[in-house]
Amino acid sequence: MTSETAVALETHPLTHWTGAHGLPDFSRIDDGDFGPVFGAALKAHEAEIDAIAGDPDAPTVDNTLAALELAGEPLDRVSSIFWCRAGAHTNDAIQALEREVAPKMARHASAIAMNAALFARIDDLYNRRDTLGLDPETLRVLERTWKGFVRSGAKLDAEGKKRLAAINEELASLGASFGQNVLADEKEWVLFLEEGDLDGLPAFLRDAMAQAAEARGRKGLYAVTLSRSIYEPFTSYSARRDLREQAWKAFIRRGDNGGATDNGPVVARTLALRAEKAKLLGYDSYAALKLDDTMAKTPASVYGLLYPVWQKARAKAAEDQADLQRLAAGAGSNDTIAGWDWRYYQEKLRAEKFAFDEAELKPYLQLERVIDACFDVAGRLFGLSFVEQKGIPAWHPDVRVFQVRRRDGSDLGLFLADYFARPSKRSGAWMSALQSGYKLGEGSSPVIYNIMNFAKAPAGEPALLSLDEAKTLFHEFGHALHGMLTDVTWPSVAGTSVSRDFVELPSQLYEHWLTVPAVLEKHALHYKTGEPMPKTLLDKMLAAKTFGAGFATVEFTASALVDMAYHSRPDAPAEPLAFEADTLEKLEMPAAIAMRHRTPHFQHVFAGDGYSAGYYSYMWSEVLDADAFAAFDETGDSFNPALAEKLRKNIYAAGGSKDPEALYLAFRGKMPTADAMLAKRGLV
Ligand SMILES: [Zn+2]
Repeated sequence: MTSETAVALETHPLTHWTGAHGLPDFSRIDDGDFGPVFGAALKAHEAEIDAIAGDPDAPTVDNTLAALELAGEPLDRVSSIFWCRAGAHTNDAIQALEREVAPKMARHASAIAMNAALFARIDDLYNRRDTLGLDPETLRVLERTWKGFVRSGAKLDAEGKKRLAAINEELASLGASFGQNVLADEKEWVLFLEEGDLDGLPAFLRDAMAQAAEARGRKGLYAVTLSRSIYEPFTSYSARRDLREQAWKAFIRRGDNGGATDNGPVVARTLALRAEKAKLLGYDSYAALKLDDTMAKTPASVYGLLYPVWQKARAKAAEDQADLQRLAAGAGSNDTIAGWDWRYYQEKLRAEKFAFDEAELKPYLQLERVIDACFDVAGRLFGLSFVEQKGIPAWHPDVRVFQVRRRDGSDLGLFLADYFARPSKRSGAWMSALQSGYKLGEGSSPVIYNIMNFAKAPAGEPALLSLDEAKTLFHEFGHALHGMLTDVTWPSVAGTSVSRDFVELPSQLYEHWLTVPAVLEKHALHYKTGEPMPKTLLDKMLAAKTFGAGFATVEFTASALVDMAYHSRPDAPAEPLAFEADTLEKLEMPAAIAMRHRTPHFQHVFAGDGYSAGYYSYMWSEVLDADAFAAFDETGDSFNPALAEKLRKNIYAAGGSKDPEALYLAFRGKMPTADAMLAKRGLV
């Protein structure tokens, strides 16, 4: 381990990237270096900020706004590698450091946001903004920067600033603990089964469970784990009601098991601090503070979307439940449908209604071919091509590196993908950047990555995906395209730096191309015979797309409504879980459906601040994506070139360089309605 003072940022492998294609040289990275390098990079950034704030020259866009945006490059570099490792390949050392780094970074960001001399220079530019002859993107960056300072407390008095900094720091460390507690509960719980316990389970699931048991040193047994790739199919197929109940209960109790990993106190404290923060900054509620910077803008417009959808979803779920109850009775069960029965009987209902079993699709959804499909669609829409670069070390041997090329053959940047689950990886799927793309200064080309949690296939067999997993792959790749196609000047508006209720548009929209018949016909090939998915199966699958929408919409919307309920109050509930129960009761939540994310493991909302008062935005974006894809449908060509170019220019390439409403209008020519979303979900 090197000491902080001895770190030479100009040459250290964490901050000076000398790997192939400008990547970090991961083979030279020593986990013991993260701490000292963070320390040195923070100091270097502080010195740059001091120089900008103390500049004797009058503020200009160059010496203030641009200097600020370009400062902190070593910190960006070490952070991007560190957070990648913390999510995708962690260990005890990184986890320990995470608890240290998160509050340090929060303190650092607060110190910048509350630097009075720096804000005075931004404020001066802001007040003269109409006379500076700025282009629209620069003007927007200046306005957003100014607003960011104000929302971070730049206008507070000394005491208020101090309190806000303390709140931010505590929130950051609470967020880190929350995520770690969920991970600990997920790792802790495993149910080892024997051959005789596997009634109803399809082969792919038995294989994945055998692999999971072997990875835990119990070769020959079968492990039910709380990874969604195992938990969801297990509760969908297992004929053993007692085992489904055990798995379901463990899943919904993640973070809610008492003891050291219980998230109850973490949530209560988080909500109290968020309410206090909103009050300090002059907002009625934390939701009002968070929504100020979004496309929706107010809690009222969020409820305006969610309530009508909730009523339609409940009605649909009630219809479905009657069907499930009838099926259960037919199978000789007198029990009322419970949470652990829903997916199981829903799978049977799907088979009855569509003579079709999700598992029949899997042999046609080979991971490799679904990746090809993702790339192929990006080629047809945007002219991109992807060339795999073998043998380049990354953070784990499973990671694959692709060079991304434009239509004219020029290099656009890099795409890295890490597809398989492992114990060192957080659950879920996500996109992030090791480096973002922008033109300011010397410019920078995007290095974007996707993380997935697919189950590995047995040796010699291809990994096969469920339809949902294939959709997830397209989803995260849509985010990746938003990062890769970015074509802006300023780093702070590059790629996915857009409001939360707009950021899911590029990803959710991209999912639509997975089920375009031309794409499936070409890429959904049986892994043994190479035959395309039969037309009948394809048609059944397309007809079945809205199946289960009542359940899915209820579990999602319940989570979104509880999130808004927590954050649109002026104060915080003392007993969050009692408040959750009370909110659900008032909403008349169906007893047999659980929230998609209950409070104690609602990572979007509590493992950091990203989607607090913002879980609704997935649905908001769905309104946008359904309406946007309808634009292609209206032309009768899913790859309409003129429309694809408008889409690239105004959505995928534009980042946050313009107001999201203006971007959408420029693409579509009109504002969206919820009609296409409700129709897509089969809720009309
Ligand atoms: Zn997403």
